[in-house]
Amino acid sequence: YQRIVLATRPSGEVTPENFRLETVPVPTIADGQVLIRNHFLSLDPYMRVRMDDVKNYAAPQALNETMIGGTVGEIVASNNPQFQIGDKVIGMMGWAEMGVSDGTLLRKLDTTHIPLSAYLGAVGMPGMTAWYGLTQIMQAKEGETVVVSAASGAVGSVVGQLAKLRGCRAVGIAGGTEKCAYVVNDLGFDACIDYKAVNLEEQLAAATSNGIDAIFENVGGASFDACLARVNPFARIALCGMIAGYDGGDMSIHNARMLLSMRVTLRGFIISEHLDLWPQGLKELGILVAQGKLKFRESIAPNLAAAPKAFIGLLKGKNLGKQLVRLIP
Ligand code: NDP
Repeated sequence: YQRIVLATRPSGEVTPENFRLETVPVPTIADGQVLIRNHFLSLDPYMRVRMDDVKNYAAPQALNETMIGGTVGEIVASNNPQFQIGDKVIGMMGWAEMGVSDGTLLRKLDTTHIPLSAYLGAVGMPGMTAWYGLTQIMQAKEGETVVVSAASGAVGSVVGQLAKLRGCRAVGIAGGTEKCAYVVNDLGFDACIDYKAVNLEEQLAAATSNGIDAIFENVGGASFDACLARVNPFARIALCGMIAGYDGGDMSIHNARMLLSMRVTLRGFIISEHLDLWPQGLKELGILVAQGKLKFRESIAPNLAAAPKAFIGLLKGKNLGKQLVRLIP
C-alpha cells in the first residue's frame, strides 16, 4: 500500500519536496491487532506546525515516518474481539492507505444517519473544536455579536451555525466572494466580510454596529487585530488557531491595549486535551447533522498522491469547507 512520509522540514512555505510517497508491504497483524483500509484522510492546519522542529503542545513530526493524520476507514482483518471485519472506524492512521492498530484510540462509527467522511469534519475534531470554543470559552448568549475568522472552513462554518442556533448575530471573515456567499446564503451567517477585497476595518464596523461580544479566532494577524479594535467590555476570545503565521506570515497586533481596557478574557485551547467533553459535543453535533440543521461542505483530493498539493492549498485557502483526501477508488 502507499504512504507519505515527511522527507524534509520546510523553511517557510511548504513545498511538495517536503513529502515522499512510498510503497510498503501490507503488514501481518499480531494478536489483539486490526488491519484498517482507510477511506478518507483529514488534512488539517496543525500538521503544518508539526512539520517544524519548534516548541509546541506536541512533539514534532519525525522525519521519514508516516505523516500524522486522522482517518476513517473499514476493518479488513481482525485479531481483536472488539472489532469485526466491515466495522467502520475512526483513528489516527496517518497519510496512508492502510494502518494497523491495537484498538487504542480507535472508535467504531455508526454511518446510518451520518456519512463516514463527516466524522472527520462537522461531527469530528473540527466540529468539536467549534463546539468547545463557542460553548465553553465564548459562552455566547442570545443577542450577542460573535465574529469568526476562516468562516467557511471546517471549524469556522460550525462556529457560526452553532452561534445562530443560540440566537447570536454571527459575522464571518473569509477570503473571496465565493466563500462569503456560501457563508451567508448556505450557512446562514448574518454577514461575511471578504478580507481580500474590501477595507476590513470599515466593513467590520458596519457588520458589528453594536461591537463584538465574542471572537472565535482561527487566523491571527490583521483580521484578529481588526476584531480587537471593536470588542465590547468583558468580551471573550477563544484563541483556536493562527493560520496566517504557520507558514511564516506577519502576525503583528496593534490593538492589544483593548485586552486591558475592555477587560477581555482570552483563552487558547487544544481540543485533544478536552476528551472528557467529546462524547457530549459529538452527540449534539451528530444530531444536528442528521437533522440537517448543521450544514457542511468538503473539498476532496482524489488519491493519496494528491495529498501534498491539497495540503499546500489548504494553507493558501484553496479549500472550501473540510479538506479531505479520498483513499479508495
Ligand atoms: P479551514 O478549513 O478553515 O482551512 C484553512 C483556512 O484558513 C483556509 O481555507 C483559509 O480560508 C484560511 N487561511 C489560510 N491561510 C490564511 C492566511 N494567511 N490568512 C488568512 N486566512 C488564511 O481549516 P480548519 O477549519 O481545519 O482550521 C481552522 C483553524 O482552526 C486553524 O487555524 C487551525 O489551526 C485551528 N484549529 C485549532 C484546533 C485547536 O485545538 N486549537 C483544532 C482544529 C483546528 P480563507 O480563504 O477564508 O482565508
